[in-house]
Amino acid sequence: MTDLLELKQINQRYDSPGEHKVTVLKDIDLRITTGEFVAILGPSGSGKSTLLRIIAGLIHPTTGTVKFLDHPILGTNPGVSMVFQSFALFPWLTVLQNVELGLRYKDFPNPEKRRRALAVIDMVGLDGFEGAYPKELSGGMRQRVGLGRALVAEPDILLMDEPFSALDVLTAENLRRDLLELWLEHKIPTKSIVMVTHGIEEAVYMADRAVVLSRDPATVIADIHIGLPHWRDRKEESFTHVVDRIYMILTHSRDIQPEAEDTATGGRKYIPLPQVPSGALTGFLELLDDLAVKSDLYKLADQIMFELDDLLPIVEACGLLEFAEVSQGDISLTPIGKQFASATLLERKELFRARLLERIPIFERIRWVLDSKRNRRMPREFFLEVIRKNVGSEAADAQLDIVIDWGRYSELFAYDESSRVLYLEEEDGPFAEPAAP
Ligand code: ADP
Ligand code: MG
Repeated sequence: MTDLLELKQINQRYDSPGEHKVTVLKDIDLRITTGEFVAILGPSGSGKSTLLRIIAGLIHPTTGTVKFLDHPILGTNPGVSMVFQSFALFPWLTVLQNVELGLRYKDFPNPEKRRRALAVIDMVGLDGFEGAYPKELSGGMRQRVGLGRALVAEPDILLMDEPFSALDVLTAENLRRDLLELWLEHKIPTKSIVMVTHGIEEAVYMADRAVVLSRDPATVIADIHIGLPHWRDRKEESFTHVVDRIYMILTHSRDIQPEAEDTATGGRKYIPLPQVPSGALTGFLELLDDLAVKSDLYKLADQIMFELDDLLPIVEACGLLEFAEVSQGDISLTPIGKQFASATLLERKELFRARLLERIPIFERIRWVLDSKRNRRMPREFFLEVIRKNVGSEAADAQLDIVIDWGRYSELFAYDESSRVLYLEEEDGPFAEPAAP
């Protein structure tokens, strides 16, 4: 059988703020055949979205080839459609119009486009909402529109980039089941699904194969066949066994201590932050301290009724700041983490500030810029541009939100929501008026 998709020796390098290039993907080989649901897993910033965009032909790899049904992809890949984490809907278009957009490159007459769009809207459970605008819809329904727009083109391969991670737990589960039903019962002509996720349980619940990437640079470190029959039960031992196995591979590769120094450039590169607000992070550290012993992450997630998948970004954040470390699936506080957990609020802020400056270069840079400016203020847009160069436009806003959240918590800088400006408070006290622009 010919492969549906074949990636050969894919390498992707991006320009980094220094003059050297950073290799994000290294020597990736991947073949996907008809009938497969493939999950791609890897730490944040490893290159999962980049890989998906390469498959879609939205970016062309620095070196290497992508073949779809044995033909090299030169422009965009005609056989795929993509579902985005952020839904990526047009707010000024109705549900029907958004879904019809999925057919914009197809040669059907307009009435046929409409007929197909309406049928898909029905299929994804949006019957009755054809005329609604995205802002009138819940997150789950918006993602149904995103899914409809992708499916209406009847792609051979459906690509999904963390499609459920912006949804609340129940909504996400609902949508997972609905999609899986369409797929398993062949209600859609899609030949293969490739889903990027940071959720191990999500992958083991849905996919036939889990491809695990390392980071800095991303290589394929595991390609695991998940042979469990559907519908799968997350509580069954065979299920947790696969989750554990992937979990081990991921945490080992993650080693949750990214290099702060890019020795090749002598400069320091941007480190993508996990999407974890400071409040969640501090709460988690307190909990670890209260538990007082090493905890098995899987059990811990269960005890606090967290999905393991939701816990991982927090664990990653703890590792990044060296507050906690994971070994053999057990998590424990480092000495700094212990100090943090039992410190006063002010001491905590100080400790956190020190960790940020030491471990994550963007904080030092922001501080330097604000310190250097006479009015000690800088618009959010300025830093957004810096981050965008490093992570691309799609992820930049969410990254900056976390940077600002951590920066504010640690009082490294302040932020004014209404004017969208980062600034330093006057030395003589937090209540001084921010300097006039
Ligand atoms: P993931 O989806 O796994 O979180 P991405 O594919 O978004 O990772 O990004 C992988 C790496 O590539 C990150 O370190 C990011 O900084 C970098 N990167 C992504 N897009 C760009 C871009 N357009 N320009 C420069 N660097 C980028
Ligand atoms: Mg991504």
